[in-house]
Amino acid sequence: MTRVLIVGAGHAGGRVAEHLSRAGFAGEVMLVGDEAVPPYERPPLSKDYLAGKQQAGALLLFDPAIATPGLRHIHGRVARIDAQARIAMLESGEALAYDALVLATGTAARQVSIPGSDQASVHVLRTIADADRLRADLLTARHLAVVGGGVIALEVAATAREMGVEVTVIQLDRRVMERCLTPTMSQWLRTQHEGKGVRFLSQAVVTAMDAATVFAERAGEDGQTVPADCVLIAAGAVPVLPLIEGVDIDTSDGVLVDAFCRVPGHPDIFAVGDIARMPTGEGARRQETWRNAENGAQAVARALCGEGESYDELPWMWTDQYGHNIQVVGAPGADDMEIRRGDLDEGRAALFYLNAENRMTGAILLNEGRQRRWVEALIRAGKALDPAQLADGAIALKVLA
Ligand SMILES: Cc1cc2nc3c(=O)[nH]c(=O)nc-3n(C[C@H](O)[C@H](O)[C@H](O)COP(=O)(O)OP(=O)(O)OC[C@H]3O[C@@H](n4cnc5c(N)ncnc54)[C@H](O)[C@@H]3O)c2cc1C
Repeated sequence: MTRVLIVGAGHAGGRVAEHLSRAGFAGEVMLVGDEAVPPYERPPLSKDYLAGKQQAGALLLFDPAIATPGLRHIHGRVARIDAQARIAMLESGEALAYDALVLATGTAARQVSIPGSDQASVHVLRTIADADRLRADLLTARHLAVVGGGVIALEVAATAREMGVEVTVIQLDRRVMERCLTPTMSQWLRTQHEGKGVRFLSQAVVTAMDAATVFAERAGEDGQTVPADCVLIAAGAVPVLPLIEGVDIDTSDGVLVDAFCRVPGHPDIFAVGDIARMPTGEGARRQETWRNAENGAQAVARALCGEGESYDELPWMWTDQYGHNIQVVGAPGADDMEIRRGDLDEGRAALFYLNAENRMTGAILLNEGRQRRWVEALIRAGKALDPAQLADGAIALKVLA
């Protein structure tokens, strides 16, 4: 009987176990996770869960009360894997022998080490436990300083404003969500935040913090002080892996896998979710998104069941801030032409990005999520498009696709 060991019981690991179980996988499945809760989805942690509008039970991937035949859920942390002997050692000392290994250890919030960053009022946000601690502080805090200007930073800024907390965002980048959003959308989003009273300190480096203040510096200016009785460090995420011995695999930035989520040269080792560095048109890269965890897990489960179907994910992420839903599809390039359909000021628009051959590389949808499937079809089709037709809201995207 095949023994599958899944290391990491988060979104991707939990879904692999669930799919195997649903598919009637005949072997034994061991799902090892170091969090005290069953597998759950993280996106609400910076949104409705942090705001207190959602309970923890609603985040769970599946009902843990329903016994799943053949699945053993082990609460623990894998410290070391001997991939030649196919044995994983838990920190508790327990040894788990396996036939197939699925690495689903995800990422951890990047820590910054500056004077004062070890205070109890300084937070990161990755887990339910992190969200519970942050929420407890926000309920009494007067001023939150968010260090970082990415998606989690801005979602927490929006949630905190809705909870009545003053917010300052301090970021190194020039514009908000610089890695996900194009300049037009970045500016639009910043304007929304400013309209709600959020202050921004951009291109600034945080140098220290104490119980009431964050200290920052900007090139050529005097030092800045930001009042803050609560701080969120949202400085990105770093891949986490236990020590893997006995095989030569590329773990330089997560785990390099092929289109089947398999480690090249090692048909018994898979990596999935945030930890997997997958082939894309522009080289291998990790995707830290819900959909990648969701769909990658299906691909791994299928492969373990002997169905060799490759997995090819078009990048897609979303964010919800102040009741607006923004979705980024594909990978808009810096030099691409921007075509606008709809009106950003009215809160409903689509921005399309075309390369030099007028092929769509990506799109940003503002409260237009229903158009995503047509946008994806247009990107995948790779055909040259007429900018005038794209801009014309009277022509359904479905027709162009
Ligand atoms: C606050 C927040 C908001 C987000 N919002 C969005 C969003 O709006 N849209 C979107 O597309 N994506 C969003 N994401 C990203 C999305 O949640 C992740 O891409 C997804 O969770 C990745 O799943 P994963 O299984 O790879 O990693 P995770 O869900 O992080 O699971 C990994 C698990 O492995 C455990 N683990 C690690 N090492 C070990 C070990 N050695 N032994 C045992 N267990 C271990 C970890 O503790 C964790 O439980 C958000 C993420 C966060 C944190």
